[in-house]
Amino acid sequence: MFNSLSDRLTATFKNLKGKGRLTEADVDATVREIRRALLDADVAVPVVREFTAAVKERALGLEVSEALNPGQQVVKIVNEELQNILGGQTRRIRMAKTGPTIIMLAGLQGAGKTTLAGKLGKWLKGQGHRPLLVASDLQRPNAVTQLQVVGERAGVPVYAPHPGTTSEFDDPTGDPVQVARDGVAQARARLHDVVIVDTAGRLGIDEALMAQARDIRDAVQPDEVLFVIDAMVGQDAVNTAQAFNEGVDFTGVVLSKLDGDARGGAALSVASVTGKPIMFASTGENVDDFEQFHPDRMASRILDMGDVLTLIEQAEKQWDRAEAEKMARKFTDQEDFTFEDFLVQMQQLRKMGSMKKMLMMMPGAAGMREQLENFDEREIDRVEAIVRSMTPHERVAPKIINGSRRARIAKGSGVTVSEVNQLMERFAQAQKMMKRLAQGKGVPGMPAGIP
Ligand code: GDP
Repeated sequence: MFNSLSDRLTATFKNLKGKGRLTEADVDATVREIRRALLDADVAVPVVREFTAAVKERALGLEVSEALNPGQQVVKIVNEELQNILGGQTRRIRMAKTGPTIIMLAGLQGAGKTTLAGKLGKWLKGQGHRPLLVASDLQRPNAVTQLQVVGERAGVPVYAPHPGTTSEFDDPTGDPVQVARDGVAQARARLHDVVIVDTAGRLGIDEALMAQARDIRDAVQPDEVLFVIDAMVGQDAVNTAQAFNEGVDFTGVVLSKLDGDARGGAALSVASVTGKPIMFASTGENVDDFEQFHPDRMASRILDMGDVLTLIEQAEKQWDRAEAEKMARKFTDQEDFTFEDFLVQMQQLRKMGSMKKMLMMMPGAAGMREQLENFDEREIDRVEAIVRSMTPHERVAPKIINGSRRARIAKGSGVTVSEVNQLMERFAQAQKMMKRLAQGKGVPGMPAGIP
């Protein structure tokens, strides 16, 4: 998402590199390029206008800075203004002071509400809450069963007293407002501290849908009404957001399907157009493909300055501290680095999620996008299969892996002998590098002390 916008903006800044001072013509040209990039990315026209006016005014009034050259200063301005249109500060869920916190989800059918219910539930559970999901979408075929499946994946209970429809030809029965109300009562009785109410969407905005959403809202008095918008829908996103803003007066936005490669600019306009903050981002179909939305980090990501904080958080979430400490001892005690360690490292990396997604958050990732796109996740599976085909003894004493053992390993893991040879070579290099690190010599080509 935002790839082409990101490419265009970084290309614009390249033109400013090395300029000692910026003339008015430089600023004009830059702002024009930025405007085009934003419009091409589907950012709504009024938002573009406001954005470029702010950038221009600030760029023209630039003071000479000792620390930053003019090009860098412009990047800084664009970064800050981008952060502004994305809502400024990170906005967290407002928890109820007494009783359960009630979060209602609203949005069009297919926006990703049901999926989000599971993601949000799991995320909150990870923070020590006891969420309950409530199935108030009785309209979309199988929405109730889907919520139950999602709840199971997330390890979060689901309140679903009514089965909902199973085919688009069924007339919806049951009262979604009553289900929502009962769901909240159930949460109170069972001491859940968060209730997430999934509601029905339609393919397009209609008054009946809006009225139902309003009825549910009025019945349960949610602490948060989250409007879920599919970031791939383009310009329509802004109109839909405005309609829901007037219809249910939501309190926050969730951008879903940010993993897609649509232009996405319309989604970027939603916060600015509605004046409501973007609170979360959904980035895939799995229950973990979800993150809190930080305007500052997203701005950096778009400007290819990387999002190292999110990267570290993802890593911390999944990283097994005991294993990490064991690995650290390998550095200091100069123990031998074995294939067993190699396997552990690989599993740790895999736990962090898709390698591609992780690497894309590195600063400068845009420059390597093509290589990253070609990165084959299955490569990791192959390497793991090879290591798993080794005997325990071979894993700790790789020197004994001779020709016939390599042939056996290749057969066992379904790869060619030359692939086994390649891995052995790479492993030998990694081992050498670990040794150098342990001896405090640093990695070749880099100063000692910086691995
Ligand atoms: P609802 O009608 O609003 O409840 O939407 P759903 O939760 O059923 O989602 C509609 C479709 O979009 C499903 O096939 C989901 O798997 C998919 N989906 C939801 N969120 C994401 C996301 O962040 N990324 C991608 N790629 N697909 C998603």
